[in-house]
Amino acid sequence: MFVDSHCHLDFPELTERQDEILALMAQNAVSLALCVSVKLETFPRVLALAEAHPHLYASVGVHPDNQECEEPDVDRLLALAAHPRVVAIGETGLDYYWHKDRPEWQRVRFRTHIQAAHACNKPLIIHTRDSADDTLRLMREEKASVPGGVMHCFTETREVAEAALDMGFYISFSGIVTFKNAKALKEVARYVPLDRMLIETDSPYLAPVPHRGKQNEPGFVKHVAEHIAELRGVPVETIARQTTDNFMTLFDIV
Ligand SMILES: [Zn+2]
Ligand SMILES: [Zn+2]
Repeated sequence: MFVDSHCHLDFPELTERQDEILALMAQNAVSLALCVSVKLETFPRVLALAEAHPHLYASVGVHPDNQECEEPDVDRLLALAAHPRVVAIGETGLDYYWHKDRPEWQRVRFRTHIQAAHACNKPLIIHTRDSADDTLRLMREEKASVPGGVMHCFTETREVAEAALDMGFYISFSGIVTFKNAKALKEVARYVPLDRMLIETDSPYLAPVPHRGKQNEPGFVKHVAEHIAELRGVPVETIARQTTDNFMTLFDIV
């Protein structure tokens, strides 16, 4: 049994194929998936998925790339996070790849999410791109280690992984780890302790080999598990079992 710890099934390109996508999940033994919110405007669609399907869960948050959208405050996040199917705050974080001017509003928004996670004691889903130093700095300043969480779609260095692990965070690997040129990331996937590792698709993006370049979906998460198993010289069942246990522990799912 596999778990996709991060996907965007509410995105229209996936919604229109929903039956097919859920069928492939079942066929590939992907038993659970976390549907991750990127905007308050579309959060109702994320929640609707988790309400309609017992094996789908939801998070609430506003992605750091989304500028023209409703700005969350702590109270608003808490009100939405109170729903029993909402198991995490995010995705949040910093992204200086798409916002090269390193805007202050991203850091303000990130702090808001960390404060909400403290208040409701739900874990954080953190996105970081070209912004590792500031991401780690804000995590430290706002004591993100208390609610804890996951560094999702991890593409940073081993040093960044170590710093996040030191704060009690989990590291989640996506299809990027299966790409031939992702040599440094494969090293990180060999290094991260198995009891602190998650796997994800981040679908509809970043389909793993052998589906690279196509639309991604949760059923493909098994290819991420298979690749990490190969890198670490362990049976795929080990990766499946451990990443599933980690998911249940982190998001407090029984
Ligand atoms: Zn992300
Ligand atoms: Zn995402």
